[in-house]
Amino acid sequence: MPESSSTEVPTSVDMSVPLASSPNRSFCLSSALALKWAWAKILLVGFNPPIVSISLSTAHGFQGSKAHESSDSACMARTLVVHAASHVSPASVQRVSAVVVNHRSRRRRLPLLTSIDMEIAKIKEKGQNLGHDIVLWKSSDNKFKPRFASSNTWQQIRHADQKVSWYKGVWFSDSIPKFSFLLWLAVRNRLSTGERMLAWNRAVNPSCVLCNAPMETLEHLFFACSYSSQIWKALTNQLLTRHYSLNLWEILSSLSTPTFKGTICYILRLVLQATVHSIWMERNRRRHGELSSSAEQLIKLIDRIVRNKISSVQLLGSRKLEDGLQIWFASRD
Ligand SMILES: [Zn+2]
Repeated sequence: MPESSSTEVPTSVDMSVPLASSPNRSFCLSSALALKWAWAKILLVGFNPPIVSISLSTAHGFQGSKAHESSDSACMARTLVVHAASHVSPASVQRVSAVVVNHRSRRRRLPLLTSIDMEIAKIKEKGQNLGHDIVLWKSSDNKFKPRFASSNTWQQIRHADQKVSWYKGVWFSDSIPKFSFLLWLAVRNRLSTGERMLAWNRAVNPSCVLCNAPMETLEHLFFACSYSSQIWKALTNQLLTRHYSLNLWEILSSLSTPTFKGTICYILRLVLQATVHSIWMERNRRRHGELSSSAEQLIKLIDRIVRNKISSVQLLGSRKLEDGLQIWFASRD
């Protein structure tokens, strides 16, 4: 099915063949719905996205319509078609043909709905030979295409804020996802540090369990704390050289800009997220009365994490870290 132009009705309509017996059903339902049903469900239930911005409850009309501001009526008709073909559940799939056949023009409260009515009427006028129902997905270039891509759909439903200055230091290729996530929480100041817990409950002891400083703040943990700074210094002093810092924001700034390049940049980002994760885990263990680890033990742990990660990336055949272990070992002397 070629991609539709902006003026044509994008989805073909089979008036005579039920979808269940359509030779294209495997495309229409099995691939387009069974695999994407969860997405359709998410789009329909959880969001108010432009890709399925019209709610169609039955073949007899619209319900709770909500339209994307920038979409014209032709796009809305497409949206309707997308919605109609991916509606709610495989068991209650509404054929586009049924939508069209059962459609009756009526007075609409919103001008946009009137426009959509007109678009459906145009589909109806085209008659019997429009082919089978298919699902079209809105893509990043604002066109509707038969190919589904989760990244495209995600871009359609998410609200995109301005890029933050530190994102490259947190999210990068071949990172360790759970470490990136924890670092992201830290950067967003969402970790339950002593300072934050004190704001919720005045009875909480906000002191640092790593060095007994009276107030455990984010900046203290990463890496003003005497325990944390010992670890950070041992791991990065030789790599950061004149950019060495114990301030998390300065470190993130260095690792999010072209200050460092290539393998060294990757290693530093990896060490940062592994160190933040390891220190936070150690802090939690101590808060919950478990056995504590010395700074030396944590340094060894992080060193092993970094070596294993570099090795695993190399094993995947990537050449970008071929000198990774060499650089890391040299910095550890
Ligand atoms: Zn401390």
